[in-house]
Amino acid sequence: MPRAPSLFVSHGSPMFALEPGRLGPTLRQVGAGLPDLTAIVVVSPHWQTRGVRVTGATTLETIHDFSGFPPPLYALQYPARGAPELATDIVALLAASGFDAASDSARGLDHGAWVPLRYLKPAADVPVLQVSLPHDLDAAGALRLGRALASLRERGVLVVGSGSLTHNLYEFRQHVADPEYAQAFADWIADAVQRGDVDALVGYRDRAPHAARAHPTEEHYLPLLVALGASAPDEPRTLLAGGMTYGTLSMDSFGFGLPVDGHAEAA
Ligand code: ZN
Repeated sequence: MPRAPSLFVSHGSPMFALEPGRLGPTLRQVGAGLPDLTAIVVVSPHWQTRGVRVTGATTLETIHDFSGFPPPLYALQYPARGAPELATDIVALLAASGFDAASDSARGLDHGAWVPLRYLKPAADVPVLQVSLPHDLDAAGALRLGRALASLRERGVLVVGSGSLTHNLYEFRQHVADPEYAQAFADWIADAVQRGDVDALVGYRDRAPHAARAHPTEEHYLPLLVALGASAPDEPRTLLAGGMTYGTLSMDSFGFGLPVDGHAEAA
């Protein structure tokens, strides 16, 4: 069983589902080049809980957890099945790492999971599980959550942290077009990822330019640390350039341990 990669994917706005932009085709290409996967585990900021929860259902509802968007967005489905036995294993892994972990037999997939998965695995033929983001998680905790999931990759499980490399929703709603600060933040993060500088990425709030403006709240940044925590220091790190959308939302994404076949720029 080949080791599966871990990914940080920017989902930006739910509109990404209808507007592939630059990142959509890249994710399709990445998905097509992945080794055979036994399952996909997604951590998304749109499922925050007390402790960590893992989807334990066999059938997963496609949750349209947004309002005020065009009707076609609400018609989209991602009919992947779950993997209850793997959910039990993941709960045990998380508990062994000190997390208050349990499975949730009712929860489906939020848009932070299904929007990027429609590009990565359009056939929805790989079982999917979602792991929640504890509502009180900090940067160090997000790294620890990723480390707790790392061994799944040896079992052919793709680990995906889904967030947004910059995510100022106020500016998104006000149509602020000031890509320079967002690009400066995104470039600083890409450089730190390239150097494998875990301390800088965990301490980004005090060290990265415009960090508090790029992430007024941290939940769309933390999935990057989950993907990083699930990676090993010696594996290739790949920038999946996504460009800037809606003025200030950076769609840049990263692969850790992706097969090196020239499908994306090396970070
Ligand atoms: Zn989001």
